[in-house]
Amino acid sequence: MRSNIVKNLCKKHCKYYKPSKDNELACKGFTVIEKLIKNGRKISFNKSEKKVSASTGKKLIGNMCVACSFYEDGCDFAAEKKGAPPCGGFILLGHLLDGKIITIDDIVNIH
Ligand code: SF4
Repeated sequence: MRSNIVKNLCKKHCKYYKPSKDNELACKGFTVIEKLIKNGRKISFNKSEKKVSASTGKKLIGNMCVACSFYEDGCDFAAEKKGAPPCGGFILLGHLLDGKIITIDDIVNIH
């Protein structure tokens, strides 16, 4: 399943994806999506041209990014580098939240 998510999420949606890092520590966006799928949620990996809304972005930063291994050091978006996009997991989850397919509680309470 992991390799499927790498293919559909990381390769397709994430600017930070590096093939050599497939087996390294995954970001929180990845692990949340992996768990949602394990818990039986149907996740569409379709790309959206829309930007994630500002309010959803804030929720994701406050509830997900803060728990990500790359938050302190390793994510240009979290470091607020100019023009740096979030990771693919953040973008996909942002669209799922904006589309009311999942709620922020689904992310916060995920096991
Ligand atoms: S945007 Fe950065 S800090 Fe947030 S989940 Fe993705 S990699 Fe982690």
